[in-house]
Amino acid sequence: MSNPTRRLHGKVALITGAASGIGEEIARLFAANGAFVVVADINDKLGQQVVASIGIDQASFCHCDVRDEKQVEEMVSYTVEKHGRLDILVSNAGISGSSSTILDLDMSNFDNVMSTNVRGVVATIKHAGRAMVKQNIRGSIICIASTAAQIAVNLSYMSYTSSKHAVLGVVRTSCGELGAYGIRVNCVSPHGVATTMTMKGLNLEATEFEEVVCSKASLKGVTLKSSHIAEAALFLASDESVYISGQDLVVDGGYTVVKPLF
Ligand code: NAD
Repeated sequence: MSNPTRRLHGKVALITGAASGIGEEIARLFAANGAFVVVADINDKLGQQVVASIGIDQASFCHCDVRDEKQVEEMVSYTVEKHGRLDILVSNAGISGSSSTILDLDMSNFDNVMSTNVRGVVATIKHAGRAMVKQNIRGSIICIASTAAQIAVNLSYMSYTSSKHAVLGVVRTSCGELGAYGIRVNCVSPHGVATTMTMKGLNLEATEFEEVVCSKASLKGVTLKSSHIAEAALFLASDESVYISGQDLVVDGGYTVVKPLF
């Protein structure tokens, strides 16, 4: 029986976009569960602050822009050189891009979102997968998709919604290919959590955002927080999900499965 408070004891986890928001919460929870975490991000200042608060005996920072495959390869090499192995990848780094309808879509914005949210995820799985295969590690790869991978929300986020739908295809294909090596690949799909990404440009307090989001969910009485997403990622990272692969764990209080008739 695994120690319930140290579910990742001795594991090495690499988390992209871990300088803030959901990625930061995942890094903290994984470290609290005994993992060594590599906090990877383009934001060096915030990333180093996260590492300092977790503690340098359990966390380190690696600068990485996931849009650049060379940096992704170097990030994976850094992890393996520093910790000797890589057990868990959380491909979390993502951006929302700007809101516009298809009729006035800025294609350079579309390219940047796809480059971060899809190409970045593919590159991280490629290089983390290679490192796991090389060392014969039965690893766990978790991508952070979104409820925007299940449905389109009427907020004109064409680039974001397309990119998150694509992540599901990436996860399922990688599950098929890496399963032969004992590597599991899943994703977690959060609904709206008040983070830098979601609050950007909104004239709302975090609590107001949470109220609006949670009022649409079927499940009442719970406010969705980053910690709920981190708990789902922890489950998929741990041996408790040892026969689960290719799945999308949707954390949305039933939002995507119930449509009000009236
Ligand atoms: P956030 O803005 O708080 O965190 C995103 C992090 O990714 C930041 O630290 C940022 O610096 C980093 N990042 C951005 N571009 C990068 C790049 N090219 N390379 C490396 N790092 C980069 O946002 P968040 O809400 O925590 O988002 C994390 C993930 O969760 C994203 O993939 C997002 O799409 C997904 N998600 C979030 C929500 C939500 O409601 N917050 C819902 C569904 C899915």
